[in-house]
Amino acid sequence: MQTTVTNTETLNPFEIAQKQIDSAAALLNLPKAAVDILKRPKRVLTVNFPVKMDDGSVKVFEGYRSQHNNAIGPTKGGIRFHPDVTLDEVKALSMWMSFKCGVVGLPYGGGKGGVICDPHDFSKGELERVSRGFMEAIADIVGPETDIPAPDVYTTAQIMGWMMDTYSRLKGVNSPGVITGKPLILGGSKGRNEATARGCVYTIIEALKEMGREPAGATVAIQGFGNAGRIAANLLADLGCKVVAVSDSKGGIYNPAGLDVQAVGQLKDTASILDYGKQYHISNHDLLELEVDILIPAALENVITLANADHIKAKIVAEAANGPTTPDADKILSGKGIVVIPDILANAGGVTVSYFEWVQNLMNFYWSEEEVNDKLNVKMVSSYQAVSKLAKAYNTDLRTGAYMISLKRITEAMEARGWV
Ligand code: GLU
Repeated sequence: MQTTVTNTETLNPFEIAQKQIDSAAALLNLPKAAVDILKRPKRVLTVNFPVKMDDGSVKVFEGYRSQHNNAIGPTKGGIRFHPDVTLDEVKALSMWMSFKCGVVGLPYGGGKGGVICDPHDFSKGELERVSRGFMEAIADIVGPETDIPAPDVYTTAQIMGWMMDTYSRLKGVNSPGVITGKPLILGGSKGRNEATARGCVYTIIEALKEMGREPAGATVAIQGFGNAGRIAANLLADLGCKVVAVSDSKGGIYNPAGLDVQAVGQLKDTASILDYGKQYHISNHDLLELEVDILIPAALENVITLANADHIKAKIVAEAANGPTTPDADKILSGKGIVVIPDILANAGGVTVSYFEWVQNLMNFYWSEEEVNDKLNVKMVSSYQAVSKLAKAYNTDLRTGAYMISLKRITEAMEARGWV
């Protein structure tokens, strides 16, 4: 993740999150104390933990867990394993989680974790020891009623399973509710794996509806072919959209006639999506500037900035990633009439089904996939409509509308608790 200043805009995610709070708070007349509290995480833990590597050496890994605000309920949010993780990034991601939970009305505040590492370098055994080591290092501050982690960039259901096992062993009780996104056999929820993408697609359908359009025939470009990007590509193709471009960290492929997304998925599993054909290659940079109906940034932060915002030609930008657009770029997109479905709404499907998973764990009673998806649909559609209505009433963009809904809710909880 870049944190330098380019063309006079900051790319530091923590400063960006603070700016976003200021913009929405300015329209709401919130007590200053509430804004002061919300502009920083309540608690941040830095850990350094040793892991035995396969060659017999010991490596010390640095990781973080940030808990932003717990006025509404326990903090909640994923853990990412990535070489570019920074403390400011994790702090920002925990803030975005609070506002995400607020927009869809979940009884949670925001949290986030990260470990500086590249899981692609690990054997399976090393990955397991890093996962267990990090959980052991943060075990004192997480728990089903305090802070509930989940998957994020480069972390998987298997990793959640190891972490749940480590926590349960440390506490001497089976504790499925400590983490979500687990394998089904350990109390994972049906539909959780697809939830981020599915939720994002539900919001895209609503945005298209407002434009008087159907998904069928709409052209789509997707940056990032991980959990969110890849499943969104499949779901949108099923709805009759034409997915013309996708990419991963190595580069992208583009065919204006449409890609065969199943074939691309197979290549991702067996080799590289770039093996689709040299004639289709496109850079991640150029993919963002394609003339498409729907652009889905589904990778990392700061990909739409002052440097390229003016060249974005999509009609809808649906932020499946967290923090892909900088505040200055946001203004440019909005000025061009581009509808940006903000991350805290567009990718809230993941944490929404995490919430369903946690509820099922606490009840020890499990739902069908249909029930999960129906409940997700109700949440996403009603949240989109509430955000859109408020944004129209204040003549502002969807991001500001989404922040306003969240800020109001969290402030109300802080007032009710007597914090402000
Ligand atoms: N990492 C996901 C996010 O950024 C999911 C978090 C969760 O399920 O708690 O929203």
